[in-house]
Amino acid sequence: MQIEAIEPPLALLAEVTHRCPLQCPYCSNPVQLRGASGELTTAEWLRVLTAAAAIGVLQIHFSGGEPTARVDLPELVRHAVSTGLYTNLITSGVLLDQRRVDILAEAGLDHVQISFQDAEDVNGDRIAGMSGAQKKKREVSAIIRRAGLPLTVNLVVHRQNLERLPEMLDMSVALGASRIEVAHVQYYGWALANRDALLPSRAQLDRATEAVDAARARLAGAVVIDYVVPDYYAHLPKACMGGWGRRFLTVTPTGLVLPCHAAESLPGFDFPSVRDWPLGEIWRSSDAFNRFRGTAWMPEPCVTCDRREIDWGGCRCQAFALTGNAAATDPACGRSPDHGLLDVAVREAEGEPGPFVYRRIGGKAEAAG
Ligand code: SF4
Ligand code: SF4
Repeated sequence: MQIEAIEPPLALLAEVTHRCPLQCPYCSNPVQLRGASGELTTAEWLRVLTAAAAIGVLQIHFSGGEPTARVDLPELVRHAVSTGLYTNLITSGVLLDQRRVDILAEAGLDHVQISFQDAEDVNGDRIAGMSGAQKKKREVSAIIRRAGLPLTVNLVVHRQNLERLPEMLDMSVALGASRIEVAHVQYYGWALANRDALLPSRAQLDRATEAVDAARARLAGAVVIDYVVPDYYAHLPKACMGGWGRRFLTVTPTGLVLPCHAAESLPGFDFPSVRDWPLGEIWRSSDAFNRFRGTAWMPEPCVTCDRREIDWGGCRCQAFALTGNAAATDPACGRSPDHGLLDVAVREAEGEPGPFVYRRIGGKAEAAG
């Protein structure tokens, strides 16, 4: 792909902090988490938001960690709104209350996505690694709706909650969600470390798909339900991030700019920082964004495949996690010579689940159990 052909990014994921009171074992943050020291300052984030709008970004997704752990979040939202960005908050909800939601609504926040671990409190709190989390999330969801903010409920599903997907869908509707995102765990970072505990069986997946189909029929016209079959049971890969460097960029808590939120798991990259480079230059000219952009980097069978500009060869992080080669065809593709690697994991999913390795700042070594 030529530099001239590069279109502006659609959305920026602002990971404003890695701090989070929850410890989800599928967290998409890197295994080596950063603490508060080294986080971008308020002034630095304001500059990032201004630059994002200037290069054509339309949507900003405030995420983390838990983005509400930053007390300057309302200031960031207010500034993003003033530059014309659509603002979405992706939160666990557990640090919010009436006062903080009102301040965010007053700042102009457009939309909230709140995640739930289960419909059942004991298991939900166990997965989150936080007692009382589920109850708090329900309370905060009601506050969000009373504030007039549209609500999406994110249901991250896996082997240890998938049986209750029908109840989780009912719970989301009762909470007032206008959209429900049923997201199967993606296996890199913390989730790869927990794959034995999280990967569902084929029978579980089939029942979950039936539950989604039934809910979609029942709720048609009232609630949108997004659902994608997990990669390990797919025969064609997803267009991960809409293609590397085509639609999305992520800014990490310390200011690194990534083509995808998991890209730090890839070796051989020197990801540029907003502290050193203008955002537009990073998007257009950096090696990090150009390495897997377009189709020139592709190996066989992708390079001669008629789907190469549909799925862009799938997920680079999954290719590396499974094959050790970030430039390999995503093994989720049935045409990949490495597709059999998924079969091994799927067979293991029929056995007893392993224990969770909880997400903690300080890294995997400290996170036994
Ligand atoms: S996935 Fe869980 S642990 Fe990770 S940032 Fe979200 S709420 Fe926190
Ligand atoms: S061979 Fe490559 S381009 Fe073709 S479907 Fe598979 S991953 Fe996509």
